[in-house]
Amino acid sequence: MESTIDDPDMVLNNYLTSIADTEGDMVQGTELPSSPPIPTPPPPEFEHFMKLPVEIRGYIYEFALFTGQIIRPQLCDHSGMTLNNANEIKFHDQVQHSRLHPNHAAISNLLGITRVSKQIRAESLPCFYAANTFAIGADTATYFMRLKQLSRFHMVRHVRLTIELRREKWTAEILQHLTHHLRDVEAYESWYQGEQDTRIYLCNHPHYIAGGVPELALFSCLRMLTSTFTTPTTESNSNSKSNTAYTHNLVLPIPSTRTFTAYASLRWFLTVSAALGIHVHFLEGHALVYNDQGRIGVVWRQAFQKKNFDVSAKEGGGKGNGKGNGGVDVWDRALAANPAVGDMQRDRYERTAYMRVSCDGLGYEWFDVWHLEQ
Ligand SMILES: [Zn+2]
Repeated sequence: MESTIDDPDMVLNNYLTSIADTEGDMVQGTELPSSPPIPTPPPPEFEHFMKLPVEIRGYIYEFALFTGQIIRPQLCDHSGMTLNNANEIKFHDQVQHSRLHPNHAAISNLLGITRVSKQIRAESLPCFYAANTFAIGADTATYFMRLKQLSRFHMVRHVRLTIELRREKWTAEILQHLTHHLRDVEAYESWYQGEQDTRIYLCNHPHYIAGGVPELALFSCLRMLTSTFTTPTTESNSNSKSNTAYTHNLVLPIPSTRTFTAYASLRWFLTVSAALGIHVHFLEGHALVYNDQGRIGVVWRQAFQKKNFDVSAKEGGGKGNGKGNGGVDVWDRALAANPAVGDMQRDRYERTAYMRVSCDGLGYEWFDVWHLEQ
């Protein structure tokens, strides 16, 4: 959340210091002259802190757990960690991490406060997700899957998405990639028999494998952030045929709907959304995060979305995939949204390759994402 605390007064700061100190106690261990033995101080108590009204505690948590910048989750493959526990699932923040300045633990250090006690954890963990904004990058869909496993996904409040300006002629190709990807997801999730709560499950999931393809990453995340219509609705006016049935609702805060209607290079986004059954509802009067380098940045906010955005716990679900949704085909919806898509279809089925760099910056791995159709 942008507004954490406008004017953090001394009282709040003192409380923060006391919480932070308990995390550092074990490490800092001030070296005093050793004789006579100093009695072990009693463990810190938070009775005064816990006497504060819960709203004030919430402000303090958000203040303490706000990173001050965007968080771009990256699945951590730090060798020290994977050697110790090959199946440990940990994400670090790509923004606070680089090869020259490695910081695999920026987030877990920040979350130290949440480990003070059971009650503080229960109170403060949602504040971490509420206070921060997550960027959609190669591993964000994987991160969201992990949050779903941990029953925390509903706590995410702000997600920054980047929509690239694309020439309309690419719409059909993007749709082909997406259709194939969503079928992969559905097939993988119904095929996989082992424990899903594992690194192996996540790293073999199509969302992870295709994470480096921007459009697939974007729509994989958006499908998780949309609200599900309980009953499919149809566009009431122009297209009376049922091939425009929407199953999901996406609310995007933008300056003006003209942003999307005026720029031909943003139309692909609406056509693809419609084809996936996502009705994009614009909320006007909200600034873009950026509008440069052939892309725009929009912050999705849970507050603007219908509260049931997390209803579809399962990703594949048959919604938006091929003919999985009551006979409504992705291509039928795409054609209804933009008849020109029919002329854009190509017979060129290819793969996209991209490279992931290991989080120590030394290793790399190529990923092939296939878009073979039918
Ligand atoms: Zn790492």
